[in-house]
Amino acid sequence: MKAKEYSDIKKVLLRKKALLLKTDSDIAKDLQEEIDARHGDSADIAESIHEQDVALFLKTKGQDELRHVEEALERMSSGEYGICAECDEDISKKRLEALPYSIYCVSCQEQLEHKVAS
Ligand SMILES: [Zn+2]
Repeated sequence: MKAKEYSDIKKVLLRKKALLLKTDSDIAKDLQEEIDARHGDSADIAESIHEQDVALFLKTKGQDELRHVEEALERMSSGEYGICAECDEDISKKRLEALPYSIYCVSCQEQLEHKVAS
């Protein structure tokens, strides 16, 4: 992969990271406001708990993605970006464009997902 292509993907990753960080703090803020607003209102507690679950889920999901993005940026600065972390094969450019923070090639990713699922 050429340096120019890396720098384009790096821009995408950095933008994604900024967006995720913003989303992360926004969710935390919304959640806190929600809890404050509901405080002492026992009739709404069940609904409130459900909303907290959803917010927490979104937050966790965002943090997961953020971790992947940071990992990809680290690999980029250490020159490992675009190489599968599992089998050392090149990750296809098409895959990196679709999923800029993937650190595994398609077949290793599939194997890992299969391992998690079973
Ligand atoms: Zn691989």
